[in-house]
Amino acid sequence: MRDEPRMVVAGATDVYVALNFGTLAPKRFLDIWAIDELRGISLSGDTLVIGALATYTDLIRSQHVVKRLPMLVEASQLVGGIQIQNRGTVGGNIANASPAGDSLPVLAAVDAVIVIRSAEGERRVPITEFYTGYRATVMRPNELIVAVEVGPVEGKQWFRKIGTRAAQAISKIVVAGVRASAPKIAFGSVAPTVVRVPETEKALAGGASIDEAALVLAREIAPIDDLRSSAEYRLQVSVNLLRRFWAETG
Ligand SMILES: Cc1cc2nc3c(=O)[nH]c(=O)nc-3n(C[C@H](O)[C@H](O)[C@H](O)COP(=O)(O)OP(=O)(O)OC[C@H]3O[C@@H](n4cnc5c(N)ncnc54)[C@H](O)[C@@H]3O)c2cc1C
Repeated sequence: MRDEPRMVVAGATDVYVALNFGTLAPKRFLDIWAIDELRGISLSGDTLVIGALATYTDLIRSQHVVKRLPMLVEASQLVGGIQIQNRGTVGGNIANASPAGDSLPVLAAVDAVIVIRSAEGERRVPITEFYTGYRATVMRPNELIVAVEVGPVEGKQWFRKIGTRAAQAISKIVVAGVRASAPKIAFGSVAPTVVRVPETEKALAGGASIDEAALVLAREIAPIDDLRSSAEYRLQVSVNLLRRFWAETG
């Protein structure tokens, strides 16, 4: 028991659900909520630095995020309800590693970098390399996420979440895109982890029509059936969302 690693608790909005359902194995916890140093949102040169403990409410209210990453504000406004937005943190969303996490496609579409720290030092991992499988990450038990860094984003940002209803719903599909000469597009809930769609991005960057790109996307992703949605529905909606992204950002 003494050697058992402690589970980090930030806003506890995911941890508490698991605790309540009796599905949580850890019995020792490390509450980091009071570490204000992990809460700030600032600019460091050209880089937007979001502390791991920044809540959705903090993101919505931050002028830096409003100016630099408006699609993260949009995503945050659609997370849970006000109570969850006040407690849920971006670090918790990243570490929880759900393929349906709403901030994840936004962060993946802008090549965000996760800053991880332990007593041994700090390392930076691009979000596209952070997830190794379903609910699995490169994090070691002695590491904390301390921040997420986002460089300047060129191009029009676009975000959509499809759920059973507008609020308090887990995403069936979530997508974020940046319309630039090299478009960047990331999907949540269509694979075991958040995914970029490099073949589709390449087709669009190379001048393919949206019809051609839609065919590429349909080959590139292979969503699954689960209790929230069918694979067929997810595939069709993903293609529809790609078309809408292109139409609305053109
Ligand atoms: C009613 C309800 C509605 C919700 N709606 C949504 C929604 O619409 N969209 C969505 O994406 N999510 C939703 N969630 C899930 C949850 O609110 C988010 O994932 C939130 O961002 C989790 O943050 P937290 O600080 O509460 O994490 P916690 O519950 O404290 O922790 C979650 C996991 O991350 C780890 N962790 C937390 N912080 C760190 C850190 N800094 N370093 C390392 N590990 C860490 C914990 O050990 C734990 O494994 C909802 C949850 C509830 C209960």
